[in-house]
Amino acid sequence: MSVLNKKTVRDFDVAGKRVLLRVDYNVPQDEAGIITDDKRIRASLPTLKYLLEKGARVILCSHLGRPNGEWKMGLTLAPVAKRLQELLPGTKVVFAGDVIGAKAKAAVAAMKNGEAVLLENLRFHKEEEENDPAFSRTLASLAEIYINDAFGTAHRAHASTEGVTHYLPAGAGFLIEKELSFLGRAVENPERPFVAILGGSKVSDKLGVIANLLKLADTLIIGGGMAYTFLKAQGYYIGKSLVDNEKIGFCKEIMEQAKKTGKQLLLPVDNICADEFSPTANIKIVDAGKIPEGWMGLDIGPKTVALFTEAIKGAKTVVWNGPMGVFEMEPFAGGTKAVAKALAECGGMTIIGGGDSASAVKNMGFADKMTHISTGGGASLEFLEGIELPGIAALNAK
Ligand code: AMP
Repeated sequence: MSVLNKKTVRDFDVAGKRVLLRVDYNVPQDEAGIITDDKRIRASLPTLKYLLEKGARVILCSHLGRPNGEWKMGLTLAPVAKRLQELLPGTKVVFAGDVIGAKAKAAVAAMKNGEAVLLENLRFHKEEEENDPAFSRTLASLAEIYINDAFGTAHRAHASTEGVTHYLPAGAGFLIEKELSFLGRAVENPERPFVAILGGSKVSDKLGVIANLLKLADTLIIGGGMAYTFLKAQGYYIGKSLVDNEKIGFCKEIMEQAKKTGKQLLLPVDNICADEFSPTANIKIVDAGKIPEGWMGLDIGPKTVALFTEAIKGAKTVVWNGPMGVFEMEPFAGGTKAVAKALAECGGMTIIGGGDSASAVKNMGFADKMTHISTGGGASLEFLEGIELPGIAALNAK
């Protein structure tokens, strides 16, 4: 079923209702418990403010870190409640102190319209990740409507992402709505030409994504460390470059598939290679197959940049996951930067699928030139792989 017709927060009459809002407050904190980056808290504000302005009573819930089902005070959401209160000076924000216990029930019972309660870290209960039905039902019983706005955990069937939807009407918040509208359109109904670009380290991490994007896109571009397994499968010498020897057969099949279906599959035609994995290594630019013995390919070369840029030019839809080289080291960041620039200039809908390519695009100053940068690394990869995300599938259709 299409993800493009899921109910959203706008489809519910929330005035005076208790709304359970699943957010992603998995924020980085230093040793003293000070939040070092509050962008996930700020990202939750549009949906939260919408609900508060409509007079809902908003019960926020999130996980933080990996407490493995135990109470770990270092992973309490109390500092997040404090920060949220600072961001919403005119709103009463109460920290519940537990998840489904007496404190949470009392805090919810005392709420008035337009107020918010933040529950304690969901993962203090092992039942959250086990998607335990009794836990889900108790969590759901706090509320009358459920809204999910945590895309980063939507690929997990947990109590707060899937379990509660068995007991409450369920819809998407604005963040998930945006993810679905861009990723969903790319996967279900892309404007063509559709160019998909994959990079990053290993072929084995992205088998499903490679296969699915080859099916969906008109052109599949492969760069980064994963390209060397493809090049080796074509018979090229790759020196000490990264390789997944067990996946050579898979790469051959993909190349065969591309030929059979008339899809364009582009691989690097030259590389920037180095004599060691270091930013101060000796560097050479060589054609594919010409990497000197003992050297490794750490970025795409200038001919490849030209080839990839040409393929991206004029694309109406571009999806990109994974850097073209070891972009963390300046001498090997050029290919990733060039591809980011090509996306910025192509004029089509450009979608960055989370993780390293998202941080590369942001660090290189191209973030505001992209149509959409997904917030969920794992979730966006599973989405592009064509897997139904349990937290999305569980939301009601319009
Ligand atoms: P992934 O998490 O699979 O998207 O991989 C991202 C990582 O791939 C980054 O840390 C890059 O440094 C690394 N990477 C990209 N190209 C290469 C390459 N040619 N050799 C080794 N690592 C690479």
